[in-house]
Amino acid sequence: MNEDNGCLFCKIASGEIPSKKVYEDEKVFAFLDINPRNPGHTLVIPKKHFTTISDMSEEEYGELFSRAKYVANGVQKGTKSDGLSVVQSNGKAAGQVVTHVHVHLIPRYMSEGPVSLEGVLSVKKFPDETLDSVASSIKGSIGKSSEKKEEYDF
Ligand code: 5GP
Ligand code: ZN
Repeated sequence: MNEDNGCLFCKIASGEIPSKKVYEDEKVFAFLDINPRNPGHTLVIPKKHFTTISDMSEEEYGELFSRAKYVANGVQKGTKSDGLSVVQSNGKAAGQVVTHVHVHLIPRYMSEGPVSLEGVLSVKKFPDETLDSVASSIKGSIGKSSEKKEEYDF
């Protein structure tokens, strides 16, 4: 299942590099982040190597995220957190450091002073024409961005 590509998370999924595992099944492996933003900060990764979600079929993406949801329930219950952030970054520009797809499950607490999305990325104002143009570009690109899209036609 794992490729011999020197990938850190492939090695964690195979057990070659130790981790604090919280869950495993045939498709995913979940373990504690070595630099937790809060106790219980968990990473859920596909056992198969993908660099970003663009490399995954809709089915593979669905398998990862449905299992991440399953693990998320356990993280929230197990940490008794007030909330939970689900974070998934693709590409350097988005802050992805480890180039094996991973979903962060981060327990959140009212006591830490909630940080909303605005705390990470500030709101910017754009002219209406810019928004119309980008909406049109996205509409025209949906169904064309993934090579594997033809398997699924929503
Ligand atoms: P990214 O910034 O790519 O979204 O997240 C990568 C995450 O992997 C970081 O939060 C980082 O702390 C975590 N990480 C990096 N190396 C290791 C490791 O060897 N073991 C574990 N458990 N987590 C790691
Ligand atoms: Zn990998």
